[in-house]
Order: sequence, then structure tokens, then C-alpha cells
Amino acid sequence: MAADSASLSPTIEAVGAAPLARPVSEPASPLDDRAAGLRALEAEVESCTRCPLSATRTRPVFGAGNPAADVLFVGEAPGFHEDQQGIPFVGQAGKLLDKLLAGIDLDRSDVYIANVLKSRPPGNRDPQPAEIQACEGYLFRQIALIAPIVVATLGNFATKLLSGRPHGITRVHGQEQETTLGGRRVLLYPLYHPAAALYTPAMLRVLEADFAKLPHLLGREPQAAPPQPEALAVQRPEPAVQLGLF
Ligand code: SF4
Repeated sequence: MAADSASLSPTIEAVGAAPLARPVSEPASPLDDRAAGLRALEAEVESCTRCPLSATRTRPVFGAGNPAADVLFVGEAPGFHEDQQGIPFVGQAGKLLDKLLAGIDLDRSDVYIANVLKSRPPGNRDPQPAEIQACEGYLFRQIALIAPIVVATLGNFATKLLSGRPHGITRVHGQEQETTLGGRRVLLYPLYHPAAALYTPAMLRVLEADFAKLPHLLGREPQAAPPQPEALAVQRPEPAVQLGLF
């Protein structure tokens, strides 16, 4: 079944934009600063040779969207079409993502879309731990620059990496949790990967229902982390490489 034929359930209703609230950890930078920071970071990624994927990719896929987005979607890695075009989430899964966004009155210009890995693993194989370790810093810097309210992970891989927990997407989808990523307090919101939902109608209905919660999450402000005594203030390490992601 192709994504084009995967029509959205009429049970999804467009939800009016809720009042948005910025995370309280620190003020977000002005839009121009965020856009400039992302451009500089993208230039780094364009010439990155930190892992062997630089030798096999057609082009890196940095990410795309609104530099001041309140929602950052994070997938696993570029696939064939993304690698060819340099744009995240094109092809059938991308079309379904567009439909899901439209179902909540959003489009790509409202959100930001990126992947954990910026270069395509050959044959769409699973990312290797060393590749994740080499590349994840770019994602955390994207989060720091964009300062989203919600980081929506798409699928098992990104969910386990960014949550730092082994729980699979089937267990945690649709359950937001506050966490710190890229030095910012965000709501981590796991979702099924659109590519998986393309072929499983039941999963698509769940994904639609989880998407319908997003506008409400955008109106919810994560609480600041409780202050810690300086001697005990150990910054939570960014999620390390996760083994056994599936
Ligand atoms: S996957 Fe990441 S670390 Fe590896 S070459 Fe691409 S941008 Fe660099």
C-alpha cells in the first residue's frame, strides 16, 4: 500500500492552535540567530567526514523547516530518496507525514524535521553505534538552536536514543515525558514511524490519534528542572550510544 492511498481517518479533527509556551530552561534566541546558527551547522554537516558514511552518501541530509519551530520531528536516518534530494522525509513516508501534519493544521513550514544520522547508511541498514556517536552531536546542537517545545521521535530508533531508555515504541508511543536534550527542557513525544504505519492500518489509526494530541502539548510548558546543590549538579549526559535499538 502506498502512502498516497493511505487516507487519514476522519476521526482526526483539525485542532486550533493552542497558545504556545516556550520551555522555561532559558530564553530562546531570536529567529535570525537561530536561522544563522542552523546555516552554520549545516555547512559543517555538508563537509563532515566524521564517520564512514561520508564515503557512501550522495549528500548529507541536515534537516529542514522552521528555525523557530515548536515541534521538532526526529527520524532515524536518510533513506534512498532523502539521500538523492538532500531533504528529510520525502517519498511515501514523507507524504504520510505531510497528511498527518495537515490533520492538525500544520505543514512543513511550521515544524522542523531532522534525523539522528545525517548521512544514509548503505542499503538502509541500521545505524552503527560508532556512526551514532559521531553524528548525534549535530542533532543536539539543532535542538539547542531551534529550542522546540516538543521533540517528537519517529519510531523505535530515535525514541530509544533520545529517551535513553530501552522501552520500545509500542509501549511508549503517545506518552510525553519531560527531559533535557541539547541543554534544553523539552517534551519528548514518541510516535510510530510513518513508514511503519504505511502498511499497517491499525498502526496508522494510533499514529493519527497520537498526532491529534500534539496541539495540546504545544500549549503545555515543561516545568523547570528542580535546582540542585552545586556539588550534586551533575549534568545529565546526552544519551549515549544505545545498543540493541530494536
Ligand atoms: S552520518 Fe553524521 S557523522 Fe557520519 S559523515 Fe554523515 S554527518 Fe558526519
